[in-house]
Amino acid sequence: MNALAATSRNFRQAARLLGLDSKLEKSLLIPLREIKMLDNSVIHIGFDEPLAVCDQVECTIPKDDGTLATFVGFRVQHDNARGPMKGGIRYHPEVDPNEVNALAQLMTWKTAVAAVPYGGAKGGIGCTPGELSRSELERLTRVFTQKIHDLIGINTDVPAPDMGTNAQTMAWILDEYSKFHGHSPAVVTGKPIDLGGSLGRDAATGRGVMYATEALLAEHGKSISESTFVIQGFGNVGSWAAKLVDQKGGKIVAIGDVTGAIRNKSGIDIPALMKHRNEGGSLKDFYGAEVMDAAELLVHECDVLIPCALGGVLNRENAADVKATFIIEGANHPTDTEADEILAKKGVVVLPDIYANSGGVIVSYFEWVQNIQGFMWDEEKVNMELQRYMKSAFQHIKDMCKSQNCNLRMGAFTLGVNRVAKATLLRGWEA
Ligand code: GLU
Repeated sequence: MNALAATSRNFRQAARLLGLDSKLEKSLLIPLREIKMLDNSVIHIGFDEPLAVCDQVECTIPKDDGTLATFVGFRVQHDNARGPMKGGIRYHPEVDPNEVNALAQLMTWKTAVAAVPYGGAKGGIGCTPGELSRSELERLTRVFTQKIHDLIGINTDVPAPDMGTNAQTMAWILDEYSKFHGHSPAVVTGKPIDLGGSLGRDAATGRGVMYATEALLAEHGKSISESTFVIQGFGNVGSWAAKLVDQKGGKIVAIGDVTGAIRNKSGIDIPALMKHRNEGGSLKDFYGAEVMDAAELLVHECDVLIPCALGGVLNRENAADVKATFIIEGANHPTDTEADEILAKKGVVVLPDIYANSGGVIVSYFEWVQNIQGFMWDEEKVNMELQRYMKSAFQHIKDMCKSQNCNLRMGAFTLGVNRVAKATLLRGWEA
């Protein structure tokens, strides 16, 4: 089952639990708009008939060697009942419209679970950022912004970084957008601090993962300091999660990224690993651990498994072999539907993505608020508010699990879907 089908299935299950009217259910599922470049295909979004036909726009840039290169990019705007649509822009070779569609939908439920006043959107360009020079990436980002500038905006759709993009990408979008609309720092979040970014935004997703882990373990009478961890991913989310879990006394026994995986029974020295990485070293040649088979990482012995990389990594091939008691979804959609069922049967507790990795969009909201206020918060305030939002969302999910008698994923979905449904009904249907 692909990411979109799985997300739509979870949504439908939540809608049935909540007893939503079928017309409202259909309206909440269909994306508001999909903006695509170069792909004229029709997308099926969960119902039997195709419901969205996409516009075709070309995005061609001159490469540094003078040849032309054309890329496919798109943005899916899923829902705006609760506020401006919000979500990252991903640069990755496997970006495909189906997955971006699922990720846009996940953003709608994620912002609702977090109780930040946004809807959901997601964008992406199919490219390999590591194979493009800085100036090629800048040109690509500027051309993409030229194509979508009329469709994003402070009160309509606010992009942010995602896999393969970062604060610099947001700076280029801000600059290009401002040429059309005047200086508008709040049009993107995850910007460099010098352009109106928020202190603590860089660490926010990983910090949120740590707070989520803390909340879940406490619920089971456990703590980070007495648990062992395996982390998949050492990018923005994984490295911050590792650093903060380590600071809380958690023992990280294995960690991996695209280059490979390493383990150390007595715990990996995370500050030393970060120093090694910052000096250009790769995980595999880190002196403080032994290299392991990357495929074994997710089934390595530990209390808590935190996947912080791509979607679909836990599937029917490996789910039955997972040894962890708890899984914290730092990535978006790391557990596919089949794995979800296998893990549930094994009694593994899965803390779902739409809550576990919401720290990023929560601090994005703080950044947007600061831009609109024209007032910068200190980092302590950002982190304190983030912790408050994460704690409160966890409590609301637990309440939903109790009242609906369901697991954490369905608790989070019903919480999010219910909030969006309420906002939709309050706005009304009259034309
Ligand atoms: N890309 C991040 C996510 O998937 C952050 C989105 C945002 O801050 O708008 O949640």
